[in-house]
Amino acid sequence: MSFWVYENWTHKKAIVHKSDCSYCNGGRGVHSERSDKNGKWHGPFPDREAAFKYARTTNREDIRACNVCGA
Ligand SMILES: [Zn+2]
Repeated sequence: MSFWVYENWTHKKAIVHKSDCSYCNGGRGVHSERSDKNGKWHGPFPDREAAFKYARTTNREDIRACNVCGA
């Protein structure tokens, strides 16, 4: 199990996901191709703590766990 951070600069947030989350899909997101228009995936991180630590460095207003996978 690894963790990913999705940084979304349109909505000023950074969300932590588990790699097997349907939104994360191992850092590929919900679309088959990467889209860098609204945000970017960062990772993988070995644990939840490392992912949150990174998420905080983005200085986004909303930093939290995904409520789908509960990372
Ligand atoms: Zn998730």
